Amino acid sequence: MNNAVFGGVWANKKKPKREHMGEMIRLIQQQLKKLELGMVFTVKQLGDQLTFIPVYLLAAACDKPAISLVQNTPEPNAGYGCSRCEMEGVTVYTGKTFIRVFPLFPGQSLLDTRRSNESYDKAMDLWDTQTSVLSKVKLKKFISQTRGYLGQCHLRNLKYFDVGRFTVLFSQS
Ligand SMILES: [Zn+2]
Repeated sequence: MNNAVFGGVWANKKKPKREHMGEMIRLIQQQLKKLELGMVFTVKQLGDQLTFIPVYLLAAACDKPAISLVQNTPEPNAGYGCSRCEMEGVTVYTGKTFIRVFPLFPGQSLLDTRRSNESYDKAMDLWDTQTSVLSKVKLKKFISQTRGYLGQCHLRNLKYFDVGRFTVLFSQS
């Protein structure tokens, strides 16, 4: 793979749990934050000239389950599981199985419902006020107030990171 930088590798038979991924992303974010400050690189195309260059994360390629772990949102088939919007979604029967879909209803605009840094920050303000352990019922209501954010998305601390728009959907099939 050309021009790829690996921030971390999860070497296990199972995908990482949410808390494992959170910690991996937090560590990667710390390194990316240092790159944002800029470093001196030897640039081959400039005749090996030493050049000061800041580096920014602009996008991440993830499959759907990975997006939910990176953004710290529910699984893609759960309520508020869409990586792009903050709708709860509805469950529909396809004739074979049940799936969750996130349709726009009349009068709704995608711009009104899309995930953003601003709405993420509001959700984190709610999390900051939440100090007690919630019952299952109260937790479900609280998660609907946070529009599905289950906790911090560590990449939000990066300069050009935009929650909801940073991901490029990647599929192995
Ligand atoms: Zn959506």
